[in-house]
Amino acid sequence: LRDEKSAENGTPKRTRDIWFTERDEHIALSLKHHGKLYEEQSDFQKVEVYETLAYGNMLTLDGLVMCTEGDEYVYHEMITHVPMLTHGQVKKALIIGGGDGGTARELLKHSDVEEVVMVEIDSKVVEASKRFLPGISSELENQKLNLIIDDGIKYVRESVDESFDLVIVDSTDPIGPGEGLFTEAFYRDVYRILKPSGVMVTQSESPRFNQKVFKEIYACYRKIFGDANVHCYLAYIPTYPTGMWSFSYSTKGGKHPVKDFDNSRVLSFVEANTLNYYNPHIHKAAFALPNFVQEMVALN
Ligand code: SAM
Repeated sequence: LRDEKSAENGTPKRTRDIWFTERDEHIALSLKHHGKLYEEQSDFQKVEVYETLAYGNMLTLDGLVMCTEGDEYVYHEMITHVPMLTHGQVKKALIIGGGDGGTARELLKHSDVEEVVMVEIDSKVVEASKRFLPGISSELENQKLNLIIDDGIKYVRESVDESFDLVIVDSTDPIGPGEGLFTEAFYRDVYRILKPSGVMVTQSESPRFNQKVFKEIYACYRKIFGDANVHCYLAYIPTYPTGMWSFSYSTKGGKHPVKDFDNSRVLSFVEANTLNYYNPHIHKAAFALPNFVQEMVALN
């Protein structure tokens, strides 16, 4: 047992010294927690929620951190507002994965979006998020959201051509049910269902931590969308391995995320909403890549 200062009044409170550790072969990330709030083995993965001291409630799948209440805003704001404010006229959006609800919550801040389809394979993730991550899952009952519990790969394969303005792949890592979301066949289907000015955004792992996957998926995006239409951007997420996280922005024939940046559109959105990370400077700066990342994605 250790003494911790209570958040409310600064008095010492006794806390058991228990740690959650996400382990890789060579590195690990640990968060101290008060205990496990939820544990369920679904048909696809082990779904758990921990009450961490530093980052609030945390969702993990098969022992890997998916999101925490304390820093989820970085990931969800960046995966959403960068494509939304670049495209500028998204009416119909598709989220693949995203069962915690954070991406849907951010998308629905854009009042001109008419429909958001979200295809999450695991109902247990949605259930756990509704119970223990209320601030993240807050828009899962929104009338504009069509939540489908199914395999996103199958959904995209069966969708009609040119039916979405934006597809966001808010997936797990390329293991378990998310594996097929990192394949050329899947990305080709996403390309097919995008409208001519449509955009695909994916969480594209950590350039430091997941080097092989990172390089492979960018080569794949360039093959499908063309070199000039693929861009990588970065954000800093303390509870993901190495803290440096990447997203890909690929467009069929639509706007360039930096050259076509519309400052007044971004400013009016930012001023009308309470955001914790995204702003006009961050939007542009996120596409400035360190040399080693530029080499890995082979983009200019
Ligand atoms: N922010 C997280 C990260 O990068 O660690 C990812 C968010 S998590 C909510 C991703 C979701 O993708 C999970 O809930 C998982 O169940 C879902 N998922 C994995 N494979 C899927 C598939 N084939 N179709 C639909 N959803 C899938």
